[in-house]
Amino acid sequence: MAKKMSKNRTQLETFTVQAGHYIDPATGAVVPPIQPSSTFARNEDYSLRLDYSYSRAGNPALDQAEKILAELDGGADAKLFNSGMSAIAAFAETLKSGDRLVAPEVMYHGGQTWFFHLQEQRGIELVLFDQTREGALEAAVRGGDTKVLWIESPVNPTWEVIDIEYAAKVAHDAGAILVCDSTVAPPCTCKPLELGADMVFHSATKYLNGHSDLTAGVLVTKEKNEHWDGIEFARLHLGNLLPAFEAWLLIRGMRTLFVRFERASVNALAIAEHFEKHPKLEAVLYPGLKSHPGHSIAAKQMTSGFGGMMSFLVDGNEKQTQKVATSVRVFHPATSLGGVESLIEHRKVVEGPHSIVPGNLLRLSIGIEAADDLIADLEQALAQI
Ligand SMILES: *Cc1c(COP(=O)(O)O)cnc(C)c1O
Repeated sequence: MAKKMSKNRTQLETFTVQAGHYIDPATGAVVPPIQPSSTFARNEDYSLRLDYSYSRAGNPALDQAEKILAELDGGADAKLFNSGMSAIAAFAETLKSGDRLVAPEVMYHGGQTWFFHLQEQRGIELVLFDQTREGALEAAVRGGDTKVLWIESPVNPTWEVIDIEYAAKVAHDAGAILVCDSTVAPPCTCKPLELGADMVFHSATKYLNGHSDLTAGVLVTKEKNEHWDGIEFARLHLGNLLPAFEAWLLIRGMRTLFVRFERASVNALAIAEHFEKHPKLEAVLYPGLKSHPGHSIAAKQMTSGFGGMMSFLVDGNEKQTQKVATSVRVFHPATSLGGVESLIEHRKVVEGPHSIVPGNLLRLSIGIEAADDLIADLEQALAQI
């Protein structure tokens, strides 16, 4: 059998815009129907009509969404879950007591909280490395019999950049697999599997869906293997797959992924450049800025835009920082990211008492509004302190 060719960027863009489009022979409808049935009747000989028997195992919209996601990331298969955390938890089900898991010190806090939980409850050996220190990743991976290196790039919410190609090499040299949380660098700009990762994770709640109206998570694998079977088994028995309606909404959201991300990236760069030397700020953390220490690696692995995620370090205390977040009029003072609307949050409060995030950090998710309105809004909010 000929090897399946992955699509180039132009082909992927067109594919994504038309994803799931078809002409219904009966009505001429151009969008797929939603099939909400929880169960599927069998034929006379007791065979299944298609592959569907019970919706905890799969449904047509889910299959369609997974095919799109596998194509976007250039993977052999994709599995969708009812949230990003569900996907992380299903992945973690494949780890056994004593397995060594290496992850960055700063990463999505919910995922790290769950890793700590697994360390306490299940005897998973969790080793964190300082993502700002050269050599720390390699030392952590080589310091024992590592099974999984879990990375995120850029890291949330300080946006340091981890070199995916290098991380893959270090993991593979040590006999480990590399899993990359690419939520803030979706496949329209970054392809971790092509850079050597074995699996990619996305919170599809964010850029992939892009409209802040569902939660979903996806794992995409480079190859179908025993590890992947374990994830499939976990999802079937945990029952945490994405239901039909949400899968259908996600397909709709993904059609505009490329244009949304492009616009958010343009807006974010304009905002980062405008505020880079602002007197009320200590720093603007954004990998798209030439002054960012990870800029050249980011440019190498985020080939079509640096996205809409950045943080401001306010020149002030926690109270003043919160005052900025609540003084906005165009931004919404809310958590989450990757939606069409711009959001601002005081990250330390959202992460809770154990957070290591500085008290003067504001996390911004830049949306697709007019950049000038966003800049004016942040200017007036900063003027309140
Ligand atoms: C939101 C997020 C998650 C968790 O996904 P949910 O859909 O909220 O469960 C994981 N990683 C990153 C980087 C995220 O931003």
